[in-house]
Amino acid sequence: MSGWSQCLQCGTCVASCPVQRADDSFNIRRLLRSIELDRLDRSARESVWACAQCLQCAESCPRGARPDQAMLMLRRIAAGERKAPPHVAAAVANVARWGRPLPLAAAPLTAWAQDLSLPREGATVFLAGLYPYAPYLERLIGTAASLAPKRLALFGRLASLARPLAQGVLSLSLPRLGGVEIGPYERALKGAVLALRTLGVEVAYLGEQEPWCGIELHTYGYEDAFVEHARGVVADLARRGVREVITADVLTASCLAVLYREAGVDHDLRVRHLVEVIAERIGRAKGRWRAGERRTVVAFSDPCYLARRLRLVDEPRAILRKIERIDLKEPVDHGLRTRCVCGGGSEIAEPARVMRMAELRLEELIETGAERVVTSCPVCVVMLRGAAERKGFPGRIQDIGELLLESLPEAPRPGRVAPRPVGVTPRSVRVAPRPARPARVKPEPPR
Ligand code: SF4
Repeated sequence: MSGWSQCLQCGTCVASCPVQRADDSFNIRRLLRSIELDRLDRSARESVWACAQCLQCAESCPRGARPDQAMLMLRRIAAGERKAPPHVAAAVANVARWGRPLPLAAAPLTAWAQDLSLPREGATVFLAGLYPYAPYLERLIGTAASLAPKRLALFGRLASLARPLAQGVLSLSLPRLGGVEIGPYERALKGAVLALRTLGVEVAYLGEQEPWCGIELHTYGYEDAFVEHARGVVADLARRGVREVITADVLTASCLAVLYREAGVDHDLRVRHLVEVIAERIGRAKGRWRAGERRTVVAFSDPCYLARRLRLVDEPRAILRKIERIDLKEPVDHGLRTRCVCGGGSEIAEPARVMRMAELRLEELIETGAERVVTSCPVCVVMLRGAAERKGFPGRIQDIGELLLESLPEAPRPGRVAPRPVGVTPRSVRVAPRPARPARVKPEPPR
């Protein structure tokens, strides 16, 4: 376990751990001590699934130890012994059976790109990653939080049901359930693509052919399955002639740029997160990028994967500083020391603890005086939106893609020109013409 033998027992990892802050029964140092003494009891084994794999402990440790790796090692042992909890088994089964994190039909997942006229193939592709699933995740977490523990356990097994039933229940019922607000996630993806286009970066979108990165296989310790899945994704992209990937999803970017290679799946794809590409070009871009009609105090919440896996902390700030009428404020924990707001995959199984983590983070963000919280991760948006609703935060929680959509230089300003419907592109962007509506025919009077 890297660096662990030099542990000073200083407790820095415990003090920094966002899971421990929300639930003091989780104590990383106690857990690691019991591994060392080979006294891992059942409750300690179960608690390793609470770790969000956010790397905050690793970032804070003065000796460079990697407590997160110890958690991963215990998960690998549990996975090998088939002792993973039901929500983990369900998530792994979803990827194995459908190649997706949730068993949803393709149509609602690709609808966001309908009016963007994106080519279906090309050397540079945009991967939507987890964003199209985020509204359903939001709904699932909300439902899980409203259930009593016994029902919650049953609910956790839902996704692991036999394919026809799960496919039927989830793909048909989820999009129709009340409370699924697709708008913010769809706008984030549209904003990402339109901002790239405005800055001269054209991308293709694979639609229902887009492969899922399979990050849960890594996070839950199913390393062999992860390696096999990663090889499949890399081969699939190569077969389609893809040489460069741009994605707004930190999980997808982290997988392709870091975790695949760490797992020994080498590839020559160029992988960049959206903020990297936008930050590189927006500084010298022509036109005024402007958010709204008045100055707004904005706090940026660094997603842990963006900051600590991809090391992208200056880039989102460079974008926010370029956008006029934004007054950027930093919470106490920001940049490489940012706080994780998600559960690393335990959001549906342990909603209360993960919601608490998000609430604590939101409190820090509100303390800056922010009227708007911007982040760059679909799960952060899901969790912070829920926290904002529970805490009655009147401001907006927004993905940086959605902010870019509102700030595009040629986007219409309220009050100057008639607003276009959401998702309709600025004037410089070509869109496919909408099919003409059939002319209304006056019904003939009955004879
Ligand atoms: S990786 Fe994050 S959640 Fe896991 S033990 Fe470290 S600080 Fe806590």
